[in-house]
Amino acid sequence: MSDLNTGTAHAKCMTAGEHICQDPSGRPCIEWPCPNPAGTWWGPLWCPEHDKERLDRISASFDSIRASFRRASTTGSEQ
Ligand SMILES: [Zn+2]
Ligand SMILES: [Zn+2]
Repeated sequence: MSDLNTGTAHAKCMTAGEHICQDPSGRPCIEWPCPNPAGTWWGPLWCPEHDKERLDRISASFDSIRASFRRASTTGSEQ
């Protein structure tokens, strides 16, 4: 399952052309006023669309953290 998070978020869903990740938790999505049912492989709180947005935001901020770390560290060893 390690390929689930490679590339863009929900890569398998993007490949499939739909959110095959849905795993309904019985709750509504917490992104009010989103009417969609929540629950994906990654958590019970967001609907698939919002979960993808969330994960894309997280990986974008990881990228910027990594970039600034690389700028700040001239002596660090890679990995
Ligand atoms: Zn999905
Ligand atoms: Zn939603």
